[in-house]
Amino acid sequence: MTTGDSGPFLAGNTMDRPLLVSTLISYASRSHANTDVVAVDSAGITTRSTWGEVGERARRVSAALVADGIRPGDRVATIAWNDHRHLEAYYGICGIGAVLHTVNPRLHDDQLAYILNDAADSVVLVDPSFVEIAARLAPRTPSVRRWVVLGHLDSPVGLRGEIAYEDWLDAVPGRATWPELDERAAATLCYTSGTTGNPKGVLQSHRSIVLQTWACCTGDGHDVHSGHAVLGAVPMFHVNGWALPFATAMSGAKLVLPGPDLSPEALVNLIEAEDITFSAGVPTIWLGVVQYLQATGRTVPTLGKVAVGGSAAPRVLIDTLEDDYGVTVSHVWGMTEMTQGTSGRLTHRVERMERDHMRARQAKAGRELYGIELRVVDEEGADLPRDGHGVGEIHARGPWMCGAYYRGAHADPDAFTDSHLPEAEGGWLRTGDVGALDSEGYLTLTDRSKDVIKSGGEWISSIELENAALGAPGVAAAAVIGLPHERWGERPLLIIELFEGATLDHAAVLHAIGPRVASWWLPDDIVVIDTIPLTGTGKIDKKALRTSYSGHVWPQS
Ligand code: AMP
Repeated sequence: MTTGDSGPFLAGNTMDRPLLVSTLISYASRSHANTDVVAVDSAGITTRSTWGEVGERARRVSAALVADGIRPGDRVATIAWNDHRHLEAYYGICGIGAVLHTVNPRLHDDQLAYILNDAADSVVLVDPSFVEIAARLAPRTPSVRRWVVLGHLDSPVGLRGEIAYEDWLDAVPGRATWPELDERAAATLCYTSGTTGNPKGVLQSHRSIVLQTWACCTGDGHDVHSGHAVLGAVPMFHVNGWALPFATAMSGAKLVLPGPDLSPEALVNLIEAEDITFSAGVPTIWLGVVQYLQATGRTVPTLGKVAVGGSAAPRVLIDTLEDDYGVTVSHVWGMTEMTQGTSGRLTHRVERMERDHMRARQAKAGRELYGIELRVVDEEGADLPRDGHGVGEIHARGPWMCGAYYRGAHADPDAFTDSHLPEAEGGWLRTGDVGALDSEGYLTLTDRSKDVIKSGGEWISSIELENAALGAPGVAAAAVIGLPHERWGERPLLIIELFEGATLDHAAVLHAIGPRVASWWLPDDIVVIDTIPLTGTGKIDKKALRTSYSGHVWPQS
């Protein structure tokens, strides 16, 4: 008998092998040594390598880091695109127990400086296309003692310890041996894209990465397996590219990394040339691809499935991909705090339903996935029934869920319930998303809590209105915000971006939305904007829109 916190128990005789990021690449480079890893870099050069070579070069990255004095727990940042060097860095950094800190280059300089200083990164690996950003950040980030340029360094930039990647690797003979770390040790750090306040660091352990990667490879996850050629269209600087750089190694799938060019044409070219069978990305990427396919008449016959998430996938996108191009859409919800949070796989029963019923489920934000437990609570924190109607805040918890933000933001009652408890025992993550759960575990998201529109005391879902508006003629993109209204407290304003050459047909837009929502939800006004502003992670920047339209005058009714 062994004694634990909950009393004596009979311990199992299982081997206690640690779940480490290095085991993923060790497996891939051992058992899938000849499987292709193809990458396009920011110079437009395509490099064909294999999991065997990625494993080899990752050990050289580790050796170079050790020679630079990097020790377990030290933070090493990457400001990079999806390419082979970034992939080598992923494994080289984690392999020695250092922390892979992926940085979103689209953030404002002040946020970037804040993030690098908060993490106190010692080394930064930066793509040549970002050296200007690096030059601006270097004087503001004293902890960084080495800047490695992931490509050629034509002329000196003046960064501390600057060196070109290949020179950095060549300077150190041999390869590092990866230690057997504690699986609870930190592996990756990624800051949330919060539109208010300072970004918060999500520090994932090795165990967490391996568990969420396993989930990604299950049939109810993204079903990544060795039969796939995967196009990693989710930036590796955001939520570890939705775990695809890890899942392709765990399964030995072929991996294709597109670099910075995520234009529809470039993606379709890669899908065709590399026989891509699965990809993942935010709705804007796939809306662009669909519009391109429609305009050119090209098709994507090899592409069997795409995972869409990060923001709501409009029904029209799901219908077009499925019906016109034969691409199965797996619509999922997730966050930096947990990576994939729901399953987009249709169950046996739902798959046999009449088309409209099936699609209605697909348009929801996925179904509860084993490992991420969900609940919905009212304003007092009481559980709401899973009846599809009880709308409240979504809470989540699980073995790979962030339990506290980096550097002590744990006792943060806005982010976690029971935040007085140690994170291991702690409560639930308050996701800040508002929605409902139904009896099948489907999640319907209505809004971010800060974007909720309350009209006459009742909620209006901006997500549903945006979705409906996207089906209207001429509408390329849509955003809905709530603005103050004398009578109702708040009313929805629809802001649309039109396709080139299209004009706004007010009545046609309302006509398209009408059948999809309650009549009192219809927007009180529609305005056209050249470009809907997006945040650094490609989501609609509602804060910016609320500021721009704060003086909007409602039409007389
Ligand atoms: P991030 O941590 O930057 O990936 O942002 C996570 C947030 O994106 C979530 O809390 C949601 O608000 C939003 N999100 C992710 N997936 C979806 C989805 N399928 N539908 C609607 N919103 C989503």
